[in-house]
Amino acid sequence: MAVVRLEALRKEYPDGHVAVADATLEIADGELLVLVGPSGCGKTTLLRMIAGLEPITAGTLTIGGRVMNEVPPKDRDIAMVFQNYALYPHMTVAENLGFGLRLRGQHRHEVARRVREVARLLEIEPWLDARPGALSGGQQQRVALGRALVRNPRVFLLDEPLSNLDARLRLSMRLEIARLHRRLGATMIYVTHDQIEAMTLGQRIVMLDGGVIQQIDTPMSLYRRPANRFVAGFLGSPAMNFLPGTLRLADGWALDGPHGVLTLPGVAGWPGSWDRREVTLGVRPEDLHPVDAPGLHTLSARVEVVEPVGNEVFLNLRTGGKPLVVRLPPRTLPEPGTLVHLAPDPSMLHLFDAASGERIG
Ligand code: ATP
Repeated sequence: MAVVRLEALRKEYPDGHVAVADATLEIADGELLVLVGPSGCGKTTLLRMIAGLEPITAGTLTIGGRVMNEVPPKDRDIAMVFQNYALYPHMTVAENLGFGLRLRGQHRHEVARRVREVARLLEIEPWLDARPGALSGGQQQRVALGRALVRNPRVFLLDEPLSNLDARLRLSMRLEIARLHRRLGATMIYVTHDQIEAMTLGQRIVMLDGGVIQQIDTPMSLYRRPANRFVAGFLGSPAMNFLPGTLRLADGWALDGPHGVLTLPGVAGWPGSWDRREVTLGVRPEDLHPVDAPGLHTLSARVEVVEPVGNEVFLNLRTGGKPLVVRLPPRTLPEPGTLVHLAPDPSMLHLFDAASGERIG
């Protein structure tokens, strides 16, 4: 069983910088888990600690129940795929694929058999005699994947493997990795800063910021119930709208802010003690609906830029000096300068404490 367990795993660099702060997490056997977050959030450091390429400052790492903190990388039974492929340029594809097995002293017949098997699986047989320099980036990344597969490790670690590929190739390789995962049933930990990759590939996502785990959940749960403002703003494109303001309780709830007073009909269950609380209201671009006439429950915003993207339109607007984005079906294309009235869907509101950014409702 290749369960990977991190208990209060910590990385402090010699200069005192804490890159990962007490990460606790269990990756199930056969799970594809994605670590996602902005540049510098500590995702690569976390992966390198699991791989054994970076010493662990504190905490415990176990793989398959065995403590791995001091175990050298080659004895961890893991394979890593890097962003820059890291293939040996002077070796053929077949030699690159077989290198790790030869190093472990496997018989050359067995190496050749395994290389062929993986080459067939990844459909890279035609390039076996080519050198990496003769292959495109996408082809090289397939070979790099193959080199990891050939060893049949218990755990795969993938560090932004698709970042160097163009958009179209990224999409096809993403599907390929999802298929491979399904076929092999292997434990995979996949690092990316790309939210689409995280959402589409991850069975669960670990969201990191500033070396701290912000939330661990399934992609849709992260999207629907982000634990804080950071997670809410990171996942979703265009990003969630944030309206700062003060809650007011009269006949019902209202938010008083730079946008004016917005009543929130249909909101129930918020405690009365939240009256006058400073909050940030989050509304996704798809949950703001244009209505014909202004009312207390609408925001009035002026259209600045209209972005048709084919199957939908992004309206970039401004209200109370703040930007706002709305996502609409492609049939509506208001002119820049038009004043539109928008009603948020009351069942799709996200409420965050203004000071801490934590979700409260
Ligand atoms: P990116 O996507 O840009 O690679 P990341 O999320 O993978 O970012 P890390 O590379 O893990 O982030 O780095 C986390 C933090 O640790 C960053 O602030 C980085 O500057 C810092 N860091 C990384 N390596 C070292 C080092 N050797 N010494 C000191 N600080 C380091």
